[in-house]
Parts: sequence; structure tokens; C-alpha cells
Amino acid sequence: DNAGSDAKNLRVKLVLLGDSGVGKSCIVLRFVRGQFDPTSKVTVGASFLSQTIALQDSTTVKFEIWDTAGQERYAALAPLYYRGAAVAIVVYDITNPHSFHKAQYWVKELQKHGSPDIVLALVGNKADLQDNREVSVQDGNEYAEKNGMFFIETSAKTADNINQLFEEIAKRLPRPSP
Ligand code: GDP
Ligand code: MG
Repeated sequence: DNAGSDAKNLRVKLVLLGDSGVGKSCIVLRFVRGQFDPTSKVTVGASFLSQTIALQDSTTVKFEIWDTAGQERYAALAPLYYRGAAVAIVVYDITNPHSFHKAQYWVKELQKHGSPDIVLALVGNKADLQDNREVSVQDGNEYAEKNGMFFIETSAKTADNINQLFEEIAKRLPRPSP
């Protein structure tokens, strides 16, 4: 919902979905705290963090971030997290084709049950692991294009494209009328 938003200051609910181990929690930690902790704990259920960014046109966007657990046993809870979300980031690991297929499952799920005007981003994470790449940039890009999603490859480890991811999402948000 748009409560707490006005034309200059948006507040948006954002959810991260994707297989366990693809780096969802590390992406959030990198974005919110500027840190990377290789020993970070597995997310249980979901965790919540928020971060505000300022755009060039002096609007601000406060992201209320729901970082979900990818484990099968929590899959039934996912609709609780993506319900009412203005943004969903679907993450896979570029070294893991199974996680790319799982990402496609989440995209379909969001298209069926998410908000009709949801902003969808597809993220190929662990882009620092080029030598182990098993999902090509082209495959990610083509799938995203077909599904009207924004696509980017990131590394939570090196911070590559993490801020860009959230800035691009912010630019794509529908603006409430003043
Ligand atoms: P989640 O289950 O999707 O939340 O995944 P985590 O954020 O817990 O990360 C899973 C594992 O991948 C951890 O061991 C992280 O250190 C590692 N990881 C996360 N992001 C990256 C990345 O961009 N590059 C590399 N090399 N490892 C990463
Ligand atoms: Mg996690």
C-alpha cells in the first residue's frame, strides 16, 4: 500500500525471492549496511530491514525489505511476503542453473499472484565467480525481456551493481499523483 508515501517521498514494500544460497541476504546486507559477511547465517522464515535512497530529482524512496528464506518448507509462506509488495527481486546464482530455473518459477508465481503493477527485477548474483559461470548473461537477459522485467547481474561480495539495482528499481516505480 502507499500509506506514508507522497509525491516526493515514496515508501515501498520490496520482497526478495529465490533459491536458498543464491545470496539474497548478502545483497540486502551489502545494500543496507555496506558489508559482506561470508559467514552470514541462513535466513529462517523472513527478516526485515529498511533503507532510504535519494534520487537525482530529490525524491526519496524508502525500501521496506522482506528477505525471505528459500527453503522448500517456507514456500507456502511466500504469498504472505509478496502480498502487497510494490517490488519483487528474484535472485539466482550465475554458477547454478537450478537456481535460474527456480527463479523462473518465482516469476510465474508473482505474475499469477502478485500485485498487477508490481515492479519485477531479475538478478543474477555472484557475478564475481566468472570462472564458474553456468548461466550466460544472454539467458538472463532474454528471460527478463520476455517477461517485462528489469535485469542486472550483481556481486554482493564485491558490491558490483548492488546500488545500481536499487536505483534502477526506484526509477521504475509508479509515482503517486501529487
Ligand atoms: P540466501 O540464502 O539467498 O540468503 O543466500 P546468502 O546471502 O545467505 O548467501 C549464501 C552464500 O553465498 C554465502 O556463503 C555467501 O557468502 C555467498 N555469497 C552471497 N553473495 C555472493 C556473491 O556475490 N559472490 C560470492 N562469491 N559469494 C556470495
Ligand atoms: Mg537468506
